[in-house]
Amino acid sequence: MTTDMTLATTKIILSLLYDNQGCLVFRRLEELMKKSSTVEESVLQMILFDDTIIAIKEGKEEPSGPLQICPDSVIVAKTGLRLCKKKAEECEQCEGLHLCMYHVCGVFIFRVDCTYSHSLTLPHNATLLTKYKLEALPEKQLFQLLMQNDPFLLPEESFPLDYTQK
Ligand SMILES: [Zn+2]
Ligand SMILES: [Zn+2]
Repeated sequence: MTTDMTLATTKIILSLLYDNQGCLVFRRLEELMKKSSTVEESVLQMILFDDTIIAIKEGKEEPSGPLQICPDSVIVAKTGLRLCKKKAEECEQCEGLHLCMYHVCGVFIFRVDCTYSHSLTLPHNATLLTKYKLEALPEKQLFQLLMQNDPFLLPEESFPLDYTQK
Protein backbone atom coordinates (compact mmCIF):
# COMPACT_ATOMS: atom_id res chain seq x y z
CA MET A 1 0.00 0.00 0.00
CA THR A 2 2.70 2.44 1.03
CA THR A 3 4.78 1.33 -1.93
CA ASP A 4 1.92 2.05 -4.33
CA MET A 5 1.46 5.44 -2.79
CA THR A 6 5.16 6.16 -2.97
CA LEU A 7 5.30 5.17 -6.62
CA ALA A 8 2.26 7.23 -7.51
CA THR A 9 3.55 10.24 -5.61
CA THR A 10 7.01 9.91 -7.12
CA LYS A 11 5.37 10.04 -10.54
CA ILE A 12 3.42 13.17 -9.63
CA ILE A 13 6.45 14.96 -8.22
CA LEU A 14 8.71 14.06 -11.12
CA SER A 15 6.19 15.07 -13.74
CA LEU A 16 5.71 18.42 -11.96
CA LEU A 17 9.47 18.90 -12.05
CA TYR A 18 9.78 17.83 -15.69
CA ASP A 19 6.99 20.23 -16.61
CA ASN A 20 9.04 23.03 -15.10
CA GLN A 21 12.43 22.58 -16.75
CA GLY A 22 13.40 19.91 -14.27
CA CYS A 23 13.24 21.97 -11.10
CA LEU A 24 10.89 23.81 -8.78
CA VAL A 25 11.20 25.92 -5.67
CA PHE A 26 9.96 23.82 -2.75
CA ARG A 27 7.21 26.32 -1.87
CA ARG A 28 5.81 26.08 -5.39
CA LEU A 29 6.11 22.31 -5.49
CA GLU A 30 4.13 22.07 -2.26
CA GLU A 31 1.41 24.31 -3.68
CA LEU A 32 1.14 22.23 -6.83
CA MET A 33 1.13 19.00 -4.83
CA LYS A 34 -1.72 20.18 -2.65
CA LYS A 35 -3.82 20.77 -5.74
CA SER A 36 -3.47 17.24 -7.02
CA SER A 37 -3.47 15.10 -3.90
CA THR A 38 -2.92 14.78 -0.22
CA VAL A 39 0.40 13.21 0.51
CA GLU A 40 1.65 11.86 3.80
CA GLU A 41 4.70 13.68 5.07
CA SER A 42 6.57 10.42 5.51
CA VAL A 43 6.03 9.51 1.86
CA LEU A 44 7.04 12.95 0.71
CA GLN A 45 10.14 12.79 2.86
CA MET A 46 11.15 9.43 1.45
CA ILE A 47 10.86 10.71 -2.11
CA LEU A 48 12.47 14.11 -1.68
CA PHE A 49 15.43 12.68 0.18
CA ASP A 50 15.97 9.89 -2.34
CA ASP A 51 19.17 11.19 -3.87
CA THR A 52 18.98 8.90 -6.86
CA ILE A 53 16.05 10.86 -8.26
CA ILE A 54 16.07 14.21 -6.47
CA ALA A 55 18.68 16.79 -5.55
CA ILE A 56 17.91 19.60 -3.15
CA LYS A 57 19.72 22.88 -3.59
CA GLU A 58 19.31 24.48 -0.21
CA GLY A 59 17.70 27.88 -0.01
CA LYS A 60 18.35 30.79 2.32
CA GLU A 61 15.03 30.98 4.11
CA GLU A 62 14.39 29.42 7.51
CA PRO A 63 13.66 25.66 7.16
CA SER A 64 10.06 24.96 8.07
CA GLY A 65 7.41 22.28 8.24
CA PRO A 66 7.87 18.67 9.34
CA LEU A 67 10.44 18.07 6.59
CA GLN A 68 12.60 21.01 7.62
CA ILE A 69 13.15 22.13 4.04
CA CYS A 70 13.67 25.83 3.31
CA PRO A 71 10.66 27.12 1.36
CA ASP A 72 13.05 28.61 -1.20
CA SER A 73 15.09 25.43 -1.65
CA VAL A 74 15.20 24.22 -5.23
CA ILE A 75 14.08 20.66 -5.85
CA VAL A 76 15.82 19.24 -8.90
CA ALA A 77 15.00 16.11 -10.87
CA LYS A 78 17.98 13.81 -11.13
CA THR A 79 18.87 10.68 -12.99
CA GLY A 80 21.84 8.36 -12.93
CA LEU A 81 21.36 7.65 -16.60
CA ARG A 82 24.18 8.87 -18.84
CA LEU A 83 25.13 8.75 -22.46
CA CYS A 84 27.61 6.11 -23.57
CA LYS A 85 30.78 7.76 -24.82
CA LYS A 86 31.57 5.05 -27.32
CA LYS A 87 30.06 4.37 -30.69
CA ALA A 88 27.34 1.76 -30.61
CA GLU A 89 29.22 -0.65 -32.82
CA GLU A 90 32.33 -0.36 -30.63
CA CYS A 91 30.38 -0.98 -27.46
CA GLU A 92 29.33 -4.47 -26.48
CA GLN A 93 27.48 -3.78 -23.31
CA CYS A 94 27.27 -0.74 -21.13
CA GLU A 95 24.99 1.19 -18.85
CA GLY A 96 24.81 4.27 -21.05
CA LEU A 97 22.33 5.39 -23.67
CA HIS A 98 23.49 4.96 -27.23
CA LEU A 99 22.50 8.36 -28.50
CA CYS A 100 24.09 11.13 -30.48
CA MET A 101 24.95 13.93 -28.03
CA TYR A 102 24.22 16.61 -30.62
CA HIS A 103 20.76 15.17 -31.01
CA VAL A 104 20.22 15.25 -27.23
CA CYS A 105 21.49 18.82 -26.98
CA GLY A 106 19.16 19.89 -29.74
CA VAL A 107 21.99 20.87 -32.02
CA PHE A 108 20.68 19.92 -35.37
CA ILE A 109 23.72 19.41 -37.45
CA PHE A 110 22.49 17.55 -40.43
CA ARG A 111 25.22 15.18 -41.17
CA VAL A 112 24.39 12.18 -43.21
CA ASP A 113 27.50 10.50 -41.93
CA CYS A 114 26.59 10.76 -38.24
CA THR A 115 27.05 7.22 -37.00
CA TYR A 116 25.59 7.76 -33.56
CA SER A 117 22.09 6.59 -32.90
CA HIS A 118 19.22 9.07 -32.86
CA SER A 119 16.66 6.58 -31.68
CA LEU A 120 15.26 5.91 -28.22
CA THR A 121 13.50 2.80 -29.42
CA LEU A 122 16.78 1.00 -30.00
CA PRO A 123 16.48 -2.13 -27.80
CA HIS A 124 19.56 -1.12 -25.78
CA ASN A 125 18.13 2.35 -25.10
CA ALA A 126 14.61 1.11 -24.42
CA THR A 127 15.92 -1.34 -21.80
CA LEU A 128 17.85 1.40 -20.01
CA LEU A 129 14.91 3.80 -20.04
CA THR A 130 12.74 1.17 -18.41
CA LYS A 131 15.43 0.41 -15.85
CA TYR A 132 15.64 4.08 -14.85
CA LYS A 133 11.83 4.40 -14.97
CA LEU A 134 12.03 7.03 -17.68
CA GLU A 135 10.27 5.12 -20.42
CA ALA A 136 7.11 7.23 -20.26
CA LEU A 137 8.93 10.53 -20.40
CA PRO A 138 8.49 12.55 -23.60
CA GLU A 139 11.71 12.85 -25.60
CA LYS A 140 12.06 16.58 -25.05
CA GLN A 141 11.86 16.25 -21.27
CA LEU A 142 14.15 13.26 -21.25
CA PHE A 143 16.81 15.14 -23.20
CA GLN A 144 16.51 18.06 -20.82
CA LEU A 145 16.93 15.77 -17.83
CA LEU A 146 19.99 14.18 -19.42
CA MET A 147 21.53 17.56 -20.17
CA GLN A 148 20.98 18.76 -16.62
CA ASN A 149 22.55 15.66 -15.15
CA ASP A 150 25.36 14.61 -17.43
CA PRO A 151 28.57 16.58 -16.85
CA PHE A 152 29.68 15.31 -20.24
CA LEU A 153 26.92 17.30 -21.91
CA LEU A 154 27.20 20.48 -19.91
CA PRO A 155 30.46 21.98 -18.73
CA GLU A 156 30.30 22.39 -14.96
CA GLU A 157 30.66 26.18 -14.95
CA SER A 158 27.53 26.59 -17.03
CA PHE A 159 25.38 24.62 -14.62
CA PRO A 160 22.52 26.73 -13.31
CA LEU A 161 22.73 24.95 -9.98
CA ASP A 162 25.37 23.13 -8.09
CA TYR A 163 24.20 19.56 -8.34
CA THR A 164 27.25 18.18 -6.68
CA GLN A 165 26.36 19.77 -3.39
CA LYS A 166 23.75 18.14 -1.27
ZN1 LIG B 1 27.73 1.80 -24.84
ZN1 LIG C 1 23.96 12.66 -34.75
